[in-house]
Amino acid sequence: MGLMLDGVTKTFGENMAVKRLSLEIPEGEIFGLLGANGAGKTTTFRIIIGLLDATAGEVSWNGSRVESKNSDEIGYLPEERGLYPKLKVKEQIIYLGRLRGMKKEHILTELDMWLDRFHATQYLNTKVEELSKGNQQKIQFISAVLHKPKLLILDEPFSGLDPVNVELLKKAVLDLKNDGTSIVFSSHRMEHVEELCEHLCILQHGAPIVQGELKEIKRSFGRKNITIFADFNLEYLKDIPGVLSFKKMTEGCKLQISEEGVSQTVFDAVKDRGFIRKFELEEPSLHDIFVEKAGSSL
Ligand code: ATP
Repeated sequence: MGLMLDGVTKTFGENMAVKRLSLEIPEGEIFGLLGANGAGKTTTFRIIIGLLDATAGEVSWNGSRVESKNSDEIGYLPEERGLYPKLKVKEQIIYLGRLRGMKKEHILTELDMWLDRFHATQYLNTKVEELSKGNQQKIQFISAVLHKPKLLILDEPFSGLDPVNVELLKKAVLDLKNDGTSIVFSSHRMEHVEELCEHLCILQHGAPIVQGELKEIKRSFGRKNITIFADFNLEYLKDIPGVLSFKKMTEGCKLQISEEGVSQTVFDAVKDRGFIRKFELEEPSLHDIFVEKAGSSL
């Protein structure tokens, strides 16, 4: 059954932060909730975990409302840091684990395993305030997953992490999914979303403007990109009907075309002009789709 949102709406005074949002996230899936700053992602997450009440609509997790009796099935990584700065990592995690009803020995075994995975065993007795931002983020992640939640909500999990740690975290997220955890996450980094999610939703001013399976969203966007590396000037390609944009690059250019068929015309226009090192027709990136769909409101 998983997580269901049905017509969820949230108003803050005159401001409608979330507008009639309906989502279905099956168990064991990673779902991306995207949107420009202020689009309503954090508000949606707070409603899902029961921190805020929806003005209208319903949220259910495996058929029940989220409340104290099933809240231990949920893990939440907030966007803003929620750790106690003066506590050492070990004290911090023991405290949070105990709140989740875990035994101390079990907490310490899990903590050791996670610190090891995140190459952070040396911080066991370091105060949170003495950790770098990225290391605090890792500890925050550990506190969200320590109790093996069935539903995991991650608000900007990759923020502040270097590329090596991004990879470690991605791997952890994929392993949790493979163990059956349902994961909803937000990110402004479209490449992370492309890599991790099967389904996603883009919010604009609180309302869903794009929703569905990533593959299908890309296919139905229609437009494609062509990358050409060549030893001659390619500017003339701008004027071909169906070429929507032209971006000059050091080694050639990148074009956006209105539909796949235009690539044949572009190919015919370059093939006898000189030496071509690359001609590649690509799916649109999620970045392209996001900028086009959500960009109009920025
Ligand atoms: P970001 O990407 O910047 O984190 P977001 O998509 O998470 O943004 P939200 O934090 O959910 O966006 O905010 C959505 C809207 O709701 C914004 O207009 C924000 O100002 C408003 N909002 C959020 N929380 C409150 C609150 N407690 N009181 C009043 N308005 C709020």
